[in-house]
Amino acid sequence: MNVISVENLSFRYRRASDYALRDVSFDLRKGEFLGITGPSGSGKSTLCLALNGIIPNSIKGEFQGHVRVRDLNGNEFDTRETPVSRLSTVVGLVLQNPDSQLFNMTVEDEVAFGLENLGLDPNEIERRVRWALETSGLRGLENEFPPNLSGGQKQRLAIAAVFAMRPAVLVLDEPTSQLDPLGREEVLGLLSLLRREYGITVVLVEHHSDYILRHADRILVMNRGRIVLNGTPSEVAEEAGFLKKLGIKIPVSLDVSYELKKRGRLKKLSITPEDLLSELESSQD
Ligand code: ADP
Repeated sequence: MNVISVENLSFRYRRASDYALRDVSFDLRKGEFLGITGPSGSGKSTLCLALNGIIPNSIKGEFQGHVRVRDLNGNEFDTRETPVSRLSTVVGLVLQNPDSQLFNMTVEDEVAFGLENLGLDPNEIERRVRWALETSGLRGLENEFPPNLSGGQKQRLAIAAVFAMRPAVLVLDEPTSQLDPLGREEVLGLLSLLRREYGITVVLVEHHSDYILRHADRILVMNRGRIVLNGTPSEVAEEAGFLKKLGIKIPVSLDVSYELKKRGRLKKLSITPEDLLSELESSQD
């Protein structure tokens, strides 16, 4: 079952001379982990905003095509015809900067806020807040003032506030780009836990392709508002030279194996150091 269908989507911001998205089409299946990468300005953030209806409902512009999303009960919504408040319970969006997403006085209130807006029963709210804080490793910090948390904790809180609403899809726009390596590990660890334990559908935008090449089911590569590659991580890795030309950072092992393959010294490309080592060993046999 598709939870998102994007059909011939083009979008131009008001007063912008160029389109930020051009004829973008793809489907996202339930349970899938989709990675999106591309150079800066290629349209990744614009696409994220279009997936949960902020574009075109709150940020206006010239919009063509359709974005259709489906909730966990199978109800389909066209984002052009549905209010953002309804869509945010179907497609949860987590942004780059955790500080821009937290505005409550306590950790607990931050998670409860969205649930209260859904008009849920207080017992259900309490249950979901406890579950979301437990899952995201924030138990014990219920009464903390969110700005006092570490970067990784803040971003895990932003994620907890979104997944507590049980969206069909979690869309994360470069959620670790402002975090230190430890914060990054914490956030990526939470994402893999949510996928493993709850089978949640994830769209993860990353400027650096390393993590998505290792973990995503499928990757979209964007350039100048278009999808220029749509394939499995190994299909996308085969285009290492193209990715480098676009200015996308690729894993060191892929870069080294790409250069060795070009020189006829390796047959296969490797994404991880472990794969590269075993390729090197077998090529010496
Ligand atoms: P990315 O996330 O890949 O860096 P964006 O989606 O932010 O790319 O930007 C795509 C294009 O849209 C860029 O040319 C950018 O300058 C333009 N853009 C982004 N936001 C706005 C805006 N609010 N108004 C006008 N143009 C914008």
